[in-house]
Amino acid sequence: MIKIKNCALFGGTFDPFHNGHLHLIKSLIATRKFDRLVVIPAGDPYQKSGSALASDRLAMAKLALKDETVTISDCEIRRAGPSYAIDTVKEIKDLIPADQYTWVIGSDAFAGLPSWERFDELTRLVDFLVVVRPGASDVPVISGATFEILEIGALDISATELRNRLNRGEDVGAFLPADVLSYIKEKHLYGAA
Ligand code: ATP
Repeated sequence: MIKIKNCALFGGTFDPFHNGHLHLIKSLIATRKFDRLVVIPAGDPYQKSGSALASDRLAMAKLALKDETVTISDCEIRRAGPSYAIDTVKEIKDLIPADQYTWVIGSDAFAGLPSWERFDELTRLVDFLVVVRPGASDVPVISGATFEILEIGALDISATELRNRLNRGEDVGAFLPADVLSYIKEKHLYGAA
């Protein structure tokens, strides 16, 4: 019997990569739904105003995921211009053969999907797996998008909140992998001392 290969794609700004992201990855692995999981830090997150360099965000993702069976792709960081998911999906499809691609996304971000570049084309290439985030439990039906909802008991952590706390000099050790926190402090990211 020929087995269908399933590949999950998880993109994000990861500014920084935090325990909420890590919990999501571990939960995805635990579902055993996917043969491969690709994590893709955005190069130029055109819809966000980030504060760390792409190279630092990539380095933090690598540190956070060092013990996980995932592939980290720098394709968006190498590509010039705004990071559009549609271009990423096309690039990864050429590189990593799979029968089925699923774009994994938090419920907050899913609500904004129709504003994504070439959204119609994207929905033809991938299905979506929507992870319910605290504060965004009403997952909207988005016409044209095929999606499933996954409840993982997501952690109530956001990168924005962590950047603000770091900037205020607060202790954020409970919300970040230890290696990521060391990296932030070493490089004085987000105003951390
Ligand atoms: P920011 O606060 O800067 O907007 P963020 O914490 O939402 O950042 P992103 O890098 O923008 O993090 O998120 C990448 C993806 O991970 C998005 O699909 C987002 O919805 C999802 N995500 C972020 N934080 C969590 C979390 N705590 N639990 C589950 N999913 C999350």
